[in-house]
Amino acid sequence: MQKEVFTKLEKLQDSLKAKFHVEEEIKQLPHELKIKKAQLDKLRSDFEELNLNVQTVEKECKTLRFEYDNAVIAHENNQKQMEVISTQREFEALEKQISDSHILEQNLLKQLHAKEKTLTQLKEELEEKSVVLNEVEAEVKSEEAKYDAILIDKVSQKNQLENECNSIVDQYQISPELFKKFSSIVKNKDGSGIVPIHDNVCEGCHMLLPIQFVNEVRSLENIEFCPYCSRVLYYEETELSNSTDSMEIEEGSLSTFADDDEFDLDSF
Ligand SMILES: [Zn+2]
Repeated sequence: MQKEVFTKLEKLQDSLKAKFHVEEEIKQLPHELKIKKAQLDKLRSDFEELNLNVQTVEKECKTLRFEYDNAVIAHENNQKQMEVISTQREFEALEKQISDSHILEQNLLKQLHAKEKTLTQLKEELEEKSVVLNEVEAEVKSEEAKYDAILIDKVSQKNQLENECNSIVDQYQISPELFKKFSSIVKNKDGSGIVPIHDNVCEGCHMLLPIQFVNEVRSLENIEFCPYCSRVLYYEETELSNSTDSMEIEEGSLSTFADDDEFDLDSF
């Protein structure tokens, strides 16, 4: 394996990092719009409910008006009857009827006025709600237009970065398995998927690594992943490691240490 493998992975890491960043931005975009839309839905349903209420009260007013008109006619008819009665008994009966029909007429008029007052109030309320509804509808429309424009832009950025990743993968013949694994490490480790070993320490998680494992990384036979943080590791000389370069390889202690994580570079 050549050291340039790590340069390829670093290039891939840059593009992946940028792509994940744009994907996160796309995810966050509709949040504001969702809140506004929920507000609009609530306003619409309130408006509809109130509108139905107005229609019901309008019908009730109509019925009361009809009943009141009939009561007026009945009362007038009763009064006309006065002209044609002859006996005291008939007079008393009619007088009672006139009084009753007058009370009914007055009651209905009172109810009608109260109902009409309610109707006026409800209509005013409906008008106010309609103004707010129109305002929020316009806001949502303009937010949607803005959102669409930004989304188109972000999606095109994301596609471009995806193409960049694919072309790096093609160009350097990175296997689909390694691409998948490396992508998920970059995503889960905040964009840092490949780190050096300095003085036997993983620069990603700062854990001290066993010497035999460090030697395996140095040997460049396979791509090795940090057993603690899963990042891809490469060996990098430091002043200290230069001065202690003659370290011994301890045999046997790590024979199964990184078997699950190592990558055969024949497939790379
Ligand atoms: Zn690590």
